[in-house]
Amino acid sequence: MAFCVTIRPSFADTSASSLATQLDQAEGLRTADHPRFLRQLDALRLHITSMSARERWHLRYLEAWESSFQGDYANAEPRLRDVIDHADDPALSVKASAILMGDWGSNKRYEEAFELANQLVARLPTTQDKLARFVALSYLSQLLRTAGQYDLAASYAHDMAQDLPPGETSCKPMSLELTALYDAHELTSTSPELLRALESCQIAGESVFINTLWLVKASIHLDENQPEKAVELLQRIAPSIHRDQYYSSMLALQTELAQAYLKQGNDGAARKTALAALALSDPNDVSETLRDAYHVLYSIEKKQGNSPAALTYYEHYVAQDIGYLNDVSARALAYAVARQHVIVQKLETEKLSRQNNILLLQQALDAKAAETSRLYIIVLLMGLASATLWLFRLKRSQLRFKKLSSIDGLTGVFNHQHFMSEAGRAVQQLERKLGAACLVFIDLDNFKQINDTHGHAMGDVVLRRSVTICRQQLRPSDLYGRLGGEEFGILLLDCTREQGIAIAERIRIAIDTAIVEVDAGIVTFSASVGLASTDSSGYDLQRLSREADAALYRAKRAGRNRVISDAEEDGLVEA
Ligand code: GH3
Ligand code: MG
Ligand code: MG
Repeated sequence: MAFCVTIRPSFADTSASSLATQLDQAEGLRTADHPRFLRQLDALRLHITSMSARERWHLRYLEAWESSFQGDYANAEPRLRDVIDHADDPALSVKASAILMGDWGSNKRYEEAFELANQLVARLPTTQDKLARFVALSYLSQLLRTAGQYDLAASYAHDMAQDLPPGETSCKPMSLELTALYDAHELTSTSPELLRALESCQIAGESVFINTLWLVKASIHLDENQPEKAVELLQRIAPSIHRDQYYSSMLALQTELAQAYLKQGNDGAARKTALAALALSDPNDVSETLRDAYHVLYSIEKKQGNSPAALTYYEHYVAQDIGYLNDVSARALAYAVARQHVIVQKLETEKLSRQNNILLLQQALDAKAAETSRLYIIVLLMGLASATLWLFRLKRSQLRFKKLSSIDGLTGVFNHQHFMSEAGRAVQQLERKLGAACLVFIDLDNFKQINDTHGHAMGDVVLRRSVTICRQQLRPSDLYGRLGGEEFGILLLDCTREQGIAIAERIRIAIDTAIVEVDAGIVTFSASVGLASTDSSGYDLQRLSREADAALYRAKRAGRNRVISDAEEDGLVEA
């Protein structure tokens, strides 16, 4: 589940009435009382001729903010740029940069957003204005969270709380820190951070934030397999979420309810709430929340044996999943590229200063040309070697970033998106020469219990061990990726169904007989495997995935720890 937090500076009232004060007042009114803000903006425009240059830029900034708030990004951008480039007011320029960065992030212009983030971070140490720092840090925290940089996101949120501008409380920083911790899987339903953030937002009366935090808590209940607690909490906060009318919370509410009802076995209510989530959203939207809603609908239809409906929802689910994963990797990549630019700039500067040193040396040496010609050659060679070394380092760091964006951090195999795109390409190539391949989906059995009994770190050890075991059964040409959580995909190339089943069976047995040692004894584990073969399912990767997933589901239903292929019914190949 993805959680969004809206950050809006609060209204700080003041009774003075100079134009500068009225502009400050208007700024505070923006979201606290938007209609009044618009009236004040109109009133201020009438006084534009008697404004100082600084006041005119402040007005222009507020107009730009309004365009951005309306979602009119085409109008907002030139105005924000104007303020950034021309207003002789560092605080205004920082705030405008933060808003522009946020707009670009919302419009999937990630590379530009992260480049601007670099500039904004560089300006923070010299930004004295408390509100400008607060706004910049909050937008930075949100952007970095979307790129998976949870530690940085949390630390920016933490910095916000250290120096609150007048009228602000610790509710917003704490909420931002909380959502970053949640995304990093570092929270439980009883984490003190969660309770502290809730308390702070309740004291501040920030309804939207309170509800976002409750939604986080309900989502943790779901992760902890406590659907009753989730349902009870979600039903309690539903009226308040409807009052707020904040879109992303309303969508999260319905989807979380659907997931909780499904876990309780209440299919009727689950279907109703998942459909309510779809009804709320635009058909073209792509998000993690919508993906979850489609997954609920697909699971219900599959469970009830309604194949055509299950297929339709599955296709929506896959489209959302791929769209969402593409978006996730686009953000991670843009972040990596922006960091790369910083490194390249640093290397370039170092290279220039080295070249400069060589040049100085060369001039000095020229004076004694004859006797030092040998030395001269050596120095030139050293210069050449050092330039080559820099180029090599540059290339290596570029390659490392490219690799990082396609590899799963925990297990070192391809990540979901890269695996699916490589598999798609490989299957297409195979179709041309009419070869055979098997797509194998592996899901560890009752893995949650391993986490619950031995801790998440031991769960990670089991995941890595399973990967090592599988790798031992694979050839270098086979493709291997982590599809998410404790689920993996393998594409066995040049492999008939019979050969594929034999390999899958070897993997299953190797996992079943593996042992991980813990202080108090040993941990054993098993996996269920679904296999689809081009022999029977053809060369369309989406169809192969569907068949492998359906076979995996049958393997789970038939009692786990077994291999089922696309041509079999439940339990034909027993463990
Ligand atoms: P089943 O046999 O039906 O597959 O049951 P399961 O418990 O394996 O499946 P479930 O989907 O209920 O739980 C999967 C768990 O995997 C829940 C989640 O907390 C855990 N998990 C997901 N990613 C990671 C990870 O990176 N590390 C660890 N340790 N656990 C993870
Ligand atoms: Mg599992
Ligand atoms: Mg699973």
